[in-house]
Amino acid sequence: MIQPPPLLTIVVPCYNEEEVFEETSRQLTSVLNSLTAEKLISEESKILFVDDGSRDRTWSLIAMESVKNSKVTGLKLACNVGHQKALLAGLHKAKHRSDCVISIDADLQDDISVIREFILKFHEGCEIVYGVRRSRKTDTFFKRTTALGFYRLMNKLGIQLIYNHADFRLMNKRSLEELGRYPEANLFLRGIVPMIGFRSAKVMYDRKERVAGETKYPLKKMLSFAFNGITSFSVAPIRFFTLIGFLLFLLSAMAGIGVIIQKMLGYTNAGWASLIISIWFLGGLQLMGIGIIGEYIGTIFTEVKRRPKYAVDIDLYSEPLSPLQRQETERLLEKKYS
Ligand code: UDP
Ligand code: MG
Repeated sequence: MIQPPPLLTIVVPCYNEEEVFEETSRQLTSVLNSLTAEKLISEESKILFVDDGSRDRTWSLIAMESVKNSKVTGLKLACNVGHQKALLAGLHKAKHRSDCVISIDADLQDDISVIREFILKFHEGCEIVYGVRRSRKTDTFFKRTTALGFYRLMNKLGIQLIYNHADFRLMNKRSLEELGRYPEANLFLRGIVPMIGFRSAKVMYDRKERVAGETKYPLKKMLSFAFNGITSFSVAPIRFFTLIGFLLFLLSAMAGIGVIIQKMLGYTNAGWASLIISIWFLGGLQLMGIGIIGEYIGTIFTEVKRRPKYAVDIDLYSEPLSPLQRQETERLLEKKYS
């Protein structure tokens, strides 16, 4: 019996991406069309744009495109929840209808021509396919070195990350259902997906520059992303401080014995320098330790609240526009192109 081709959904989180949206939508549509022509994927395959509470025209562009282009559909989140959660919203929505889902950023920095290879791997029986960057030539020196340092640190802490893999990947229905069983609020997809452990493959590609617009990941967001990644996976930093504390305790006990001996021998000195140094040193160390413990308590705090990760405002994927809304959008479209 010949099986029907699999239904693919491409999930694209977008935050203030009005500058790139049209180009992205055009290129992804042509990829879908050529894959459909090759009978590699079903005709019902779609591109699901998730609008992560953008403050620009991104959502109206998505809604208008969905009227013109049957391959395009959208999900509008009620407010900005960040890339990871927006992506997750799209994945959860898409998994019910799709046999496989590919996630990709809206800025087309990832090479969309390897989507075909993803699908071929999927046909070979891989359940998860990772897109891996061959080089980071187009990234700034700063981004390159910080990213490398981050992967190294994560691996040292025992968190299995796929080196140079961001969120460009294919997952099949089964692995997405498995992903749905991870309830944590501090979601770090790059760490969790490899933990699922189903049969996987890697596809190499060259990372390009953003088509337009600027990065939505300033340093502050990057740091908080890295910190969440570490504290949601590893207690190593806390252990590190326990160890340091213990070593310092041993050291100071030995020093204490030394001081008592000196005292008994009648040889005491003013000791101001050592005193002041140890006050600062220990004070700093303690504050740092408390800070790290605080990070974990913060993580526990957000976890125990069990809050939903996002709120869906408009869902064109499950319910396409009503005739009235369609008319309204078409009217807007006419205004735009007249
Ligand atoms: N993004 C998002 N919500 C945010 C920030 C970013 O959905 O709060 C999306 C953004 O639209 C893009 C992707 O996440 O599709 C990656 O962002 P960006 O390209 O700015 O990050 P970079 O590639 O510079 O790390
Ligand atoms: Mg980018």
